[in-house]
Amino acid sequence: MILEAKRLGFYVAILDPTPNCPASSISDHHVVAAFDDPAAYIELAKHVDVITYEFEHIHAPVLEQLERAGHTIYPSVASLKTIQNKYTQNQALEAAGVPVPRFAKVESVDDIRHWGAPANFGYPMMLKATLGGYDGKGNALIRDEAEVETAFESLGGGARELMVEEFVDFTVEISIIASRGIDGSRVIYPVAENHHRNSILDTTIVPARVSPEAMEKASAIADRVMEVFQGVGTFCAEMFVTKSGDVSVNEVAPRPHNSGHYTIEGCFASQFENHIRAIVGLPFGNVDLIHPTVMVNLLGESDGKTELLGLHESYRQDRSLKVHLYGKESSAKNRKMGHFTVVDATVEGAIQKAEQAKTQLRVIGV
Ligand code: ADP
Repeated sequence: MILEAKRLGFYVAILDPTPNCPASSISDHHVVAAFDDPAAYIELAKHVDVITYEFEHIHAPVLEQLERAGHTIYPSVASLKTIQNKYTQNQALEAAGVPVPRFAKVESVDDIRHWGAPANFGYPMMLKATLGGYDGKGNALIRDEAEVETAFESLGGGARELMVEEFVDFTVEISIIASRGIDGSRVIYPVAENHHRNSILDTTIVPARVSPEAMEKASAIADRVMEVFQGVGTFCAEMFVTKSGDVSVNEVAPRPHNSGHYTIEGCFASQFENHIRAIVGLPFGNVDLIHPTVMVNLLGESDGKTELLGLHESYRQDRSLKVHLYGKESSAKNRKMGHFTVVDATVEGAIQKAEQAKTQLRVIGV
């Protein structure tokens, strides 16, 4: 987002608790403070005309206070608050007629058992903390009634707000990036196919290998999502596709998303560029796919000072390969350290190139 803002000559101030965080090296001003420090938000606001954010687990009450004081914040704090909580997010989507898995709030082991009954959702069933989840942290899969208590305890035993969700027997997970402007204009990116490993996104393949009908349904859903939340900026809707071709929304993120990183090489205007254009009121850039594109995350394999292996060999082998390293000083197991993208004339070709690069590119800690 910062790189795109700088390309248009904007001044950028950031708030981040880490002094040498990746964003600090490319921004004009850095407020070093915790994400829940109200004074820091107020300090940041003094420096800028528009405030935006790139992760959703932030302190909404302070943002509300800033909004009331006349500061411009996109996406709006109202949409952030609804989306931050998985339960209210699902409620809003359901009320707008967007298909979501059946869900219910739960407070006790008995509540969970109730919804797990065959007449209700049955097992397997998902238990989710409504707040603060990412990369599957905050979720527990309950395979049968015997696992209810362990799952409940693993998510805080009632100390956190919880919900259950019917288990969707999906054939593939997809996502769509969409951007909406202050004037309500919208652009919907192509459908992306996502593969996770240990609940962390591993690979994104575009175009998704799903039926044209599923693509159409998914694009219509993404468009509706932008309307429901009155989103200004780039959003992501993650969805499930079932064998019968049904599409439902798993989760909405009010920001550019990991599954949209492919747009940097895959589309004329990336999710980041269109986010910046949205929040400053500029018309959008073209979001058509230029060529089949595959994105693979580079996760840390071990703890220590970040070291990337295999760059020379993989670049020599494939001129369509682009490596993005985020500049995080230390690597940790399963930490997102960067990603790479390959493009090709066919989706199969791009997948093959990605498989090849995957065997060479590794991030370790030394
Ligand atoms: P997070 O917010 O941590 O990313 P999600 O709610 O998106 O968590 O869930 C992470 C993964 O768990 C999803 O990508 C999907 O593979 C699986 N999952 C989540 N909800 C369901 C569900 N209702 N049915 C089946 N699988 C699910």
